[in-house]
Amino acid sequence: MARRGLDLSEFMPRSELVVERVRVTKPRFSIIDTHTHFGPLVLGENYADRYDTAREVERFKEAGVKRVVNLEVVWGEGLDRLLRKIHLFEDFITTFSSIDVTKLAEPTFETYVRRTLKEAKEKGVRGLKFWKDVGLSKKDRDGRYIALDDPRLKVIWETAAELGLIVLHHVADPVAFFKSIDQYNERFEELARVPAWSFCDPELYTFAQLMEQQEAMIRENPSTTFIIAHGGSYSENLGRVSKWLDQYPNMYIDIAARLAEFGRQPYTSRAFFQKHQDRILFGIDATAGQALNYQPYFEFLETWNEYFDYSPAQVPGQGRWKIYGIGLEDAILEKIYHKNAERLGL
Ligand SMILES: [Zn+2]
Repeated sequence: MARRGLDLSEFMPRSELVVERVRVTKPRFSIIDTHTHFGPLVLGENYADRYDTAREVERFKEAGVKRVVNLEVVWGEGLDRLLRKIHLFEDFITTFSSIDVTKLAEPTFETYVRRTLKEAKEKGVRGLKFWKDVGLSKKDRDGRYIALDDPRLKVIWETAAELGLIVLHHVADPVAFFKSIDQYNERFEELARVPAWSFCDPELYTFAQLMEQQEAMIRENPSTTFIIAHGGSYSENLGRVSKWLDQYPNMYIDIAARLAEFGRQPYTSRAFFQKHQDRILFGIDATAGQALNYQPYFEFLETWNEYFDYSPAQVPGQGRWKIYGIGLEDAILEKIYHKNAERLGL
């Protein structure tokens, strides 16, 4: 019996397309996953009880990973706790820590930054991780949202460069998260399910303002190496990201959690990956103790597979579309899988 109407949440079409599909369970080269989480950012404060470090290392190794970068917004005691949790596996797990930016109005901020970063470096930390809360939720003492290009933060970027620490930023979020949650929003189902992810709020910086701040920070601190996570914050517009990469040799990107974006624009992506093959880092945003969904990334990068799922979910979580492979050459794959990360000392 034909149904005339259907609620979007009930719509789960099964593709009838018959095309060849190459399955890739192991990557062609070993991987450095530069975007993972082993601490409180994703797992919460009781993260230490939620996974067994030795078992996790084995699980990553089985997936073809030779090393991971653990990105956490911790400092001081919080950092010590995290390092204790992973300490037998520091050859496998490289850690990035952070700093309390809400202290920036304090007269001792510069001293605090220099001391904290020096201590982090001595503890074996290789870089700094900043999250979207800088820009979108953390405020300074005057109640203003902290902007990435705030000159008071410059001491962080400069000290990082002096100490040889890389700075990784997760700035903003998908563009659709800054638009109203309505029938025109391409991430409607996700935002309807978790409205807290929406940044469509006149009080907040707009997506465009965040991109300007991001660019100013990179431009004004040329000796600092910045990794802009999640496809340089703007994988919906690779032309723009490409321009930044051309202009700023101190900028790198990772591809974590943006497979749906790269994979829905295969011609543009292939040209982008070829052009910027020395500046793209591999990562999937894997979290200790949770599923490791590497396979679709391998298929995207290594094959010419057509119209396949970027996630195992029945309704894909980051937009209702499928992706296509970009069949990268071995020499490029090797750089993205591990050589670029090694060049940065990760
Ligand atoms: Zn992440």
